[in-house]
Amino acid sequence: MSHNIINNINRVSKLFQPINTLPKDAVIKSGVASKSYNLMLDMGIIRQVNSGMYSLLPLGLRVLQKLEALVDSEMTKAGAQKMLLPILTSATLWNRSGRLKTIGSELFTVEDRHKKLYVLNPTYEEAICELLAGIIPITSKDLPLKLYQISRKWRDEMKPRLGLLRGREFVMKDLYTFDTNLENAQNTYNKICESYDSLFKQIGVDYVKVIGAAGIIGGSLSHEYHYLSDIGEDTVLLCQSCGYSVNSEVLNLSSCLKCNNNLSSHSAIEVGHTFLLDTKYSKPLNATFLDGPKPKPLVMGCFGLGLTRIIAAVVEILSTNEVLRWPNNLAPFNVCILTPKKGSKEEIAAPYAEQIFGILNELNVDTIIDDRIHLTIGRRMFDANRTGYPFIIVIGKTASNQNPMFEIHDVKNSTRIDTNIEGIINYFNNQDINREIKQNEAVV
Ligand code: ATP
Ligand code: MG
Repeated sequence: MSHNIINNINRVSKLFQPINTLPKDAVIKSGVASKSYNLMLDMGIIRQVNSGMYSLLPLGLRVLQKLEALVDSEMTKAGAQKMLLPILTSATLWNRSGRLKTIGSELFTVEDRHKKLYVLNPTYEEAICELLAGIIPITSKDLPLKLYQISRKWRDEMKPRLGLLRGREFVMKDLYTFDTNLENAQNTYNKICESYDSLFKQIGVDYVKVIGAAGIIGGSLSHEYHYLSDIGEDTVLLCQSCGYSVNSEVLNLSSCLKCNNNLSSHSAIEVGHTFLLDTKYSKPLNATFLDGPKPKPLVMGCFGLGLTRIIAAVVEILSTNEVLRWPNNLAPFNVCILTPKKGSKEEIAAPYAEQIFGILNELNVDTIIDDRIHLTIGRRMFDANRTGYPFIIVIGKTASNQNPMFEIHDVKNSTRIDTNIEGIINYFNNQDINREIKQNEAVV
């Protein structure tokens, strides 16, 4: 298995995590619009810069990198190739597709010194078609072609909302597929939908796939992937008996078209959207392939995934008003090791932190050590719990015994076991953890 290596701080004392400490008698507000948004700000995961624009601080970036690693692995399995297109696309292309007018007010634009106008891309159908139009000749042997990128997208949203949920700058994975005809394009479409299902299963939060609205992208067939949540701005209609599901923007029905049973209505967050575009963009932008003497327009699909929105949505679904919770596969670190407090009886057991860190690193379980030894274990436990690390290992009183024992806390399930080093190895060998990301040696 190949690993994405990230070199990062793995000592809490050195970590840039500006925690907004609450006064002891603070009352935590309930019923706020999004509990996780406030916690992500308070726990130094993200920071607002402008309306709808956020910095991902080191822990936030780690979550994104883990999600990207899962996406890359699924895209590679689906035969897609990763690339990177420029942020700016000439407004002339957006004119050619007709979208400069239709979504004009949502576009961020800039002018260069020659007064040439560029669009900060909200999506890349124009740019990818232009790329292929300049390559002659693409033949049916080259198809299907599947190209994707993970990059920032810009939309001057009317109402930016709840941090990463609806930003004006956000990270999207966008995949574009090219086929010879509609039947092949439909096959490709089905395969990519399967890899989306596989990805969402790995994230591990229940989702629904519904018939989607064409929106600003258009095309002949589309599906959306949603997380059900009260803070969602979409409404999806689900049939409990036959599984039919649709965005209420497409059809606003009370009973199912297929089986006539009642449809239930739910607020939902759209996190992914797939479109079978046919030749909607390839024709006006001249993205063609050679099949016989005459070039034909490529038959396209496009597949978006809002990565920063997925992060905001899953953390909202799993968290409470008091503590952040992440899917195990996305948590900024899997394990936080708490070292003994300075001056405590068990201080002599402190070197075990390093040993356990090394072992977990070998197992590709990424781990951070909370070495703020001036703070009590209780205080550090509070921070680790609030930040949402799935597992906490405490080097506590029994660590200085002749047969040293350590506490493993499974934070999500509120369980604790006491075990030795062997036991720690067995325990983490059996955990379902995203091991696609490996960190470098400990930074001491
Ligand atoms: P919405 O209806 O929520 O505005 P959309 O349908 O316009 O979204 P698409 O054009 O389908 O969005 O973009 C693909 C994906 O990008 C969406 O499914 C969503 O996950 C993500 N996305 C779109 N707009 C934003 C945004 N402003 N902030 C964060 N993620 C976004
Ligand atoms: Mg959409």
